[in-house]
Amino acid sequence: MQCVGIGYDVHELVEGRRLVLGGVEIPHTRGLEGHSDADALLHAITDAVLGAIGESDIGHFFPNTDPRWKGAASHVFLSEAAAQVARRGGRIINIDATLLAQQPKIAPHIPQMKQRIATALGIPPKRVGVKATTNETLGFIGREEGIAAMAVASVELPEA
Ligand code: MG
Repeated sequence: MQCVGIGYDVHELVEGRRLVLGGVEIPHTRGLEGHSDADALLHAITDAVLGAIGESDIGHFFPNTDPRWKGAASHVFLSEAAAQVARRGGRIINIDATLLAQQPKIAPHIPQMKQRIATALGIPPKRVGVKATTNETLGFIGREEGIAAMAVASVELPEA
């Protein structure tokens, strides 16, 4: 049985934080606020994978009130989502994701992001799509108040 899932995440851009997206630290004047490393891209993909298997969202598995996840690298969350798929005898077919960021330029970092995401999920990098777009200066993303990400995941599951 082939299943799909969707994920969305947004984090606020603030002073004094590192900017980590797709598991890659990107040089920038500000970073994303959050309990973990606030990697909106990995969070959106995690929710897409969990959604494809009908599971609860990332906040259920990794509550932002739990000190264990303070400052955590978000590939841990992604790997747990992949482990949940494997536990059901399933496999991830592919991932596709879009980052929405006015600044900084994302494109130079995409090959490395794909590699990190693929490694965390245990799938080949060619099964991982990452795209980036600005928000044409419109809205909170356009004003550089935050960065958002959306993702879909396709998962093959054994017939129930
Ligand atoms: Mg998040």
